[in-house]
Amino acid sequence: MNLPKTMKAHLILLFAALGLMPILASEAPAAPKGGKLFPLDGEYLEFFVNADHHGEIVIYDPVLKAVSTGDREITVTAGTREKQEKLSVEKGDAMWTTSDLPAGDGYFVIIQVREAAGDAPKTFRLRYVAETCPGCNLPEYACTCEHAH
Ligand SMILES: [Zn+2]
Repeated sequence: MNLPKTMKAHLILLFAALGLMPILASEAPAAPKGGKLFPLDGEYLEFFVNADHHGEIVIYDPVLKAVSTGDREITVTAGTREKQEKLSVEKGDAMWTTSDLPAGDGYFVIIQVREAAGDAPKTFRLRYVAETCPGCNLPEYACTCEHAH
């Protein structure tokens, strides 16, 4: 009997049951809120759609501790190439919250971050699909697995 191997198997089962396998399988860190995580010059930016259908944006330091919003300004646009809508963005201490996202999904969300008002923006883009991914159990827009879309 190989005890360590058995224990490892049990751990894998436990992680799988908790839905944590993508964290182990992926090199990228898991998004703290379960949204889409983008690298941002050594920091990270997360875009997450909350239960009220508003976008939440948090910037984290390299160990995924939320940093204060400070002077940074964020603008968010949602829609298709043909029809885009600029969302209003409310700045909190450590999070920006957008107004209600457009109905439906399949459209793009474009997030622009400026270190301070007037600076050139860094731009992040994702396709918002709300459906749950069968591979990682995250919404498709935040999928971290190799599931084919
Ligand atoms: Zn997935």
